[in-house]
Amino acid sequence: MDSQNDKPDGKADNKADDGVQSSRRRFVGTVAAGIAGGAALAPGLAQAQAGAPATNPPRPLTPPPYPKPPFQRQKQEWPGLASKMTPRPDHGETTYRGSGRLTGRRALITGGDSGMGRAAAIAYAREGADVAINYLPAEEPDAREVADLIRQAGRKAVLIPGDLRDENFCKRLVADAARQLGGLDILVSNAARQQSLPSILDLSTAEMDQTFKTNLYAMFWIVKAAVPLMPQGSSIIVTASVQAYDPSPNLLAYASTKAAQVAFVKALAKQLAEKGIRVNAVAPGPIWTPLQVTGGQTQEGLEKFGSDSPLKRPGQPGELAGAYVNLASSESSYTTGQVYGVTGGAGFP
Ligand code: NAD
Ligand code: MG
Repeated sequence: MDSQNDKPDGKADNKADDGVQSSRRRFVGTVAAGIAGGAALAPGLAQAQAGAPATNPPRPLTPPPYPKPPFQRQKQEWPGLASKMTPRPDHGETTYRGSGRLTGRRALITGGDSGMGRAAAIAYAREGADVAINYLPAEEPDAREVADLIRQAGRKAVLIPGDLRDENFCKRLVADAARQLGGLDILVSNAARQQSLPSILDLSTAEMDQTFKTNLYAMFWIVKAAVPLMPQGSSIIVTASVQAYDPSPNLLAYASTKAAQVAFVKALAKQLAEKGIRVNAVAPGPIWTPLQVTGGQTQEGLEKFGSDSPLKRPGQPGELAGAYVNLASSESSYTTGQVYGVTGGAGFP
């Protein structure tokens, strides 16, 4: 499905602007005017002289009081909706503030409807990127919320639902995203399947197959389709997991795919260095997302979710936005083949 932008130029009106985006635009406008006015300054200097502090009020020193365990038991049918979780996850909807770090970039994010993918989509749009997201058709309500947020940031939103377990769909997804965005320079391979099973004797070949197809084959198909389209300076980001390093006994199939993703990222980074495409992973710890309430955890596990972490709570998806922005932005030009852990203090990676 294509995006439905209100305006022919693909830039929607910024009706629900909380002031952050407009102040960013004012700020960017001031800098641009300074440069156009003949001030031959390096951008950084121009920025300082344009009075960044005045248009960039301080951010809160501490995060909001994020929920801690115990959590209410809850189960949704896979793939689930963020909007039906109790409490609702925070993807940075009301908090993430951009500062033009990805202006003009074009990003495709799988699993962009909820969880880490949604947090990355919101942040990328507020940093100035146009964003295409993929998700399963059952997740349309979550996806529409994300599309609205991208458009409220003044950027183009492209919605491409479909099942990544199909190689032909993966190829079409990348081609469609690049066509509708006018190119592709950020790819976030983030969609995944996770099902908790107590014993290898409960793990069917079909479940093993679904997990490997979603987490590994789809990543391979998408990246393979994207690489020929990506210019020098592009960034590929894979959402891996602490499970790659410290696997839970009930996540045998899932943890195996996450370890394989890390090896894939590290090998591919070496392969693509010559092309100037960087490849990195984000490795989250326990994060409050639909993945966990759709079979990813046992009900007991859900109740105490995040209690093992030194911060004694699960992370919220929005708390990972900075990692995705950082790895995508050109300020990270010497960072490739790395795994960025966001774990609440656990020791891996
Ligand atoms: P999530 O449920 O919000 O996101 C997973 C997404 O995968 C879904 O929204 C869905 O759109 C997509 N997906 C799954 N199967 C698909 C298929 N066949 N076709 C198309 N899309 C499909 O949960 P999340 O936790 O944000 O997961 C995002 C990433 O984070 C995953 O790679 C997951 O392994 C990783 N991760 C999550 C945690 C955690 O605690 N939540 C921890 C470490 C890593
Ligand atoms: Mg989802």
